[in-house]
Amino acid sequence: MRVHRPGFVTLAVLAALSGGCGGAAPAPNGGALPAPPTASAGPLAGKVVVLDPGHNGGNAAHPAEINREVDIITRSKACNAVGFKTADGYEESAFAWSVTQHLRPLLETMGAQVVLTRSNDEGVGPCVTERAAIGNDARADAVVSIHGDSGKPSGHGFHVIVPGLIPGRNDEVIEPSRKLGLAIRDAYQAGTGMPYANYRGEDGLRSRTDLGGLNLSTRPVVFIQCGNMRNAGDAAKMTDVAFRKRVAGALANGIKNYLTGT
Ligand SMILES: [Zn+2]
Repeated sequence: MRVHRPGFVTLAVLAALSGGCGGAAPAPNGGALPAPPTASAGPLAGKVVVLDPGHNGGNAAHPAEINREVDIITRSKACNAVGFKTADGYEESAFAWSVTQHLRPLLETMGAQVVLTRSNDEGVGPCVTERAAIGNDARADAVVSIHGDSGKPSGHGFHVIVPGLIPGRNDEVIEPSRKLGLAIRDAYQAGTGMPYANYRGEDGLRSRTDLGGLNLSTRPVVFIQCGNMRNAGDAAKMTDVAFRKRVAGALANGIKNYLTGT
């Protein structure tokens, strides 16, 4: 089994740390109880953010696992996809993983508990169904799935994908997801200088009902296509770690703005 759920490990460790104080040996400081773990402070204290770096670096080598069909409500679809790459071979999974690694500490510094849907960029999957379940099980206040797009080479810019309505299945997440999407769109444009995509979506937004990570989420969720990996200009930015750090900073601002209502 190559599916890792580091966030749950973290939850388990936190649970172990925060309980079980009764019956402890006398403290060396004269009997005062040890201080409880410091509650996280900051604007996102108490908030759970699930980050879903798209795809995985080992997917291409495991087509049978990745192409297994899963039910995403509106259709059946491959469990996961290999992802795209730039003309120079920089992989979408590596881009998404790098952004996530820069984004996670920014959110944690603001007090959020961050859960990832995968723990490295060498594994396989998990399936989109499992990725959605991780956000649901964590009762995430926001789920952000990070991707790079593959549009026509002349197309450039970014867009945010929000869940489309599937009546009776995801009615509750439509409005909060749209608010999350708008907050991320505005922060991404301001923080990276990237324009709205000129080849897909409208005003930097797009609604879809064919993505399992969106369809199956019971929590506010968006995908972001951070740029077009087949466009030379966007690709040059996405392969630059300084740009990926700006992406992380922009996404952190968008998530914070959504979660704090600013
Ligand atoms: Zn993708």
